[in-house]
Amino acid sequence: MSDLSRIEQLCVEKGMKMTGQRRTIARVLSESSDHPDVEEVYRRAVQLDPKISIATVYRTVRLFEEANILERHDFGDGRSRYEEATEEHHDHLIDIQSGRVMEFRSPEIEALQREIAERHGYELIGHRLELFGIPVRPEKEGA
Ligand SMILES: [Zn+2]
Repeated sequence: MSDLSRIEQLCVEKGMKMTGQRRTIARVLSESSDHPDVEEVYRRAVQLDPKISIATVYRTVRLFEEANILERHDFGDGRSRYEEATEEHHDHLIDIQSGRVMEFRSPEIEALQREIAERHGYELIGHRLELFGIPVRPEKEGA
């Protein structure tokens, strides 16, 4: 057993040089399941290491993204969000009021997309799907 975070382990496997600050940023990202943007990663990283700069976080996140360790998303608010790249594909539903991001997987949507691509003479090799919504609340709760 090692105490390397999963992202750190991937970095090592890819032969990346791991400084203390990179390790900290890798750990923050590994422990985040809420698709943080760079500023949020910075806020979390700086609690572990006050010497980390936002520029370092930007550079490191970019580096991880280029190495396909992180996946970048644009959920419509102009800020890039990051999550660890996984084998298992999923799509996202974004609550536009709270900014909360939920993950889902729909075999029906996956099949339909493949079908549409085939109909146009293509083999589907990937897609991005983001659903944007507002929570539906029961109407008859005392106003
Ligand atoms: Zn996700």
